Parts: sequence; C-alpha cells; structure tokens
Amino acid sequence: MTHPAPLYLDNNATTPLRTAAAVAMKDVMGPPANPSSVHEFGRAARLVVEDARLAVAQLAGCRASDVVFTSGGTEANNLVLSQYTTIITSAIEHDSVRAAHPNTRFVKVTADGAIDCDDVQRHVDAIPAEMRPSTLLSIMAANNETGVLQPLHEIADIAAAAGIALHSDMVQMFGKASIDFATTGISYASLSAHKIGGPAGVGALLVRPGCRLASLLKGGGQEQGRRSGTENLIGIAGFGAAAKAARDDVDHFTTMAGWRDAFETKILAALPDTVIFGKAADRLGNTSCLVAGAKTAETMVMAFDLAGVAVSAGAACSSGKVRASHVLEAMGAESDAGRAIRISGGWATTPSDFERLADVFLHLYKQSG
Ligand code: PLP
Repeated sequence: MTHPAPLYLDNNATTPLRTAAAVAMKDVMGPPANPSSVHEFGRAARLVVEDARLAVAQLAGCRASDVVFTSGGTEANNLVLSQYTTIITSAIEHDSVRAAHPNTRFVKVTADGAIDCDDVQRHVDAIPAEMRPSTLLSIMAANNETGVLQPLHEIADIAAAAGIALHSDMVQMFGKASIDFATTGISYASLSAHKIGGPAGVGALLVRPGCRLASLLKGGGQEQGRRSGTENLIGIAGFGAAAKAARDDVDHFTTMAGWRDAFETKILAALPDTVIFGKAADRLGNTSCLVAGAKTAETMVMAFDLAGVAVSAGAACSSGKVRASHVLEAMGAESDAGRAIRISGGWATTPSDFERLADVFLHLYKQSG
C-alpha cells in the first residue's frame, strides 16, 4: 500500500525553501564573496546584497536604504528593543520581544486576540513627557499562533500623538498580506526570510529615516554602521529571491482564507464544541488555531504526525517544548491553552491540503473523544 506524501501545515513555524531561493543561494556558493571588498569578487557580492535589499524593500513597501539585514526576526527584535530604555509591548508577542528587555510593560489583548487599543492609550499616557523619547511601543502585525491581525493604524496614531516610536514585529504578516511600511507611521519593522520561503538565519530590520539605530554588535560597521559583521551572502541571496517570488503570492494567502474557512466550517458542523481562536477578528488567511477535544495538544500533534500531517501545538518556536500557549492565556483562554492545535498553510499549500486535513482532523478527534 502506498502512503500519501506527508502534509506540511506548520508554515508559521517555517516554510519549505522556494526553488528560486535555492537556486539563488547555490549561485553564490563557492567564490570568495565579501561584499566589503573592492575587487571584482567583492563587487559581485555587493550587487547580490543590494539586489536582495531592493527585493525585500519592494515586498515591504519601503526604501532599499531602510533595510538592515540581520540574522533573523529574533535579532531584529532584540536589536530595536536594545535602542530604548522603556518598552511597551503586548502579552501576545513572540518571546524575542516579550523577553528581550528588562524594562517592559505589557498591554492587554481582547478575548479575540486583538490588542486592546484603550489599554495602549493608558500605557502611553502613563509615560511622562521626558521619558517618551526613550520609550518604544512594540506591537506585532499578526500573531503567530492565532493569525489575528492587529490594529496597527490605530496604534500608530496613538504613538504619533504621544511622540513615542513604534516598532512592529511583521515576521508573520510579511508576504501574506500587503505591507506599505513607508506610509504606516511605523518607525521600525522586523522581518524573517524563513517564513516566506527563504532560508532560516537571515532577516531584516526596517528602519524609517531619522530613527535611531546603533549596532548592537561592535565590529566592521557593515549595513551603514547599523549591524556589524560580514554579510551572510548566501542567506541574503536566498532572502532576496524568496521576496521576489513572494510578491506574486500575497493573493494566494487571501484565497487561502476561503479554504481555511471551509475547513473550519466542516469541523464546527461535525464537532460543534470546537473553539476557534480569533474567528471573529481579522486574521491571516493561512492560520487556524483551535481546540476540539480533551486531549493535550502534545498528544494530538503526535497523532497528526502518525497520520502524516504536520501541525503544531501552541507557539511554533516552542514546538518540541511542552508549554501552554502564553497567547491563549493572555486571551483569557487558560483552560484551553494546553490543548490548542495550530494549522498554518504556506506558499505551497493547495485547497486539497485543507480537505485532507479536515478528513484527518475529524478522524482523529472523533476517535479521541
Ligand atoms: N517573531 C515572530 C512573530 C515569529 O513567529 C518568529 C518565529 O517564529 C520570530 C519573530 C523569530 O524569527 P526568527 O526565527 O527569524 O528568529
């Protein structure tokens, strides 16, 4: 008996490498390639870096000179937070924001998983005028567990009125919804290549002109003095190629919302007690976070795995570590936080993938009770 190929639906954790990214990386592997060198080899490497910078900028809607390459979303988040003495953030951020700074205040979220803008206002109002220039508000664009899109325009207005800089972790939204960084009123944004079909270990911090950014790492002054260290040419080449390819895929994620919704409708019809987190909020089209039965998420993720479907439990980056979801806890769903399953489609996901997922899901949950 032949088994169908395993189905990968954990794209918020990481995505398969796009062919164009693999080709671009292979093309730069081998020759000596320090983009700071003035000779022919160095100049060729510099062209690759600048071409990738432009591709990332075009996908993010900013100027190429706003893009500072980093080792990923985690570094971009840590880098920007390190520039400020006080951080206001939310309880549902990725750990690379939540745990990055010793002086952090947390804004509440609603039961739907959206940032409570009144609470943002309260936190901002509590910052005395003299502390505002050294305070950063950091709110993610889309949550990695629920896919809930955050009210960034409203938050940007609050930050601007208070004279407080705003950073957004856009790692999950990048490539899945259109972003126009230049017009959002956001000072900084974090991106990651491996969430859009590029390699892991490379990402970027977008920095609006005039916003402070001192390199965290002391060294050669690369990236206009904003991030020292010889550029990761292979990773950057892959990031650029993935960004170019991802431009054509933003609509794919809008369409995917229909496949995801059809899946959720099927599950709710068969298992009416299922809870779908963030269902009433604006969400990324690729994500579904749900609790259907009494079994722990860890048990169910293993059952899905045995059935040939890769999904995750709670936060993607902590898959493999058993820990209740801090996101669901912040949404007031403590009792569900250890049982939630996250499904996330990607650039390679098709409608039939969601159909197969629904069959496996119903089979497993009806069996497990
Ligand atoms: N921010 C969010 C919202 C994420 O989902 C992740 C990774 O899961 C990161 C930051 C970290 O990015 P990276 O893996 O590139 O360090």
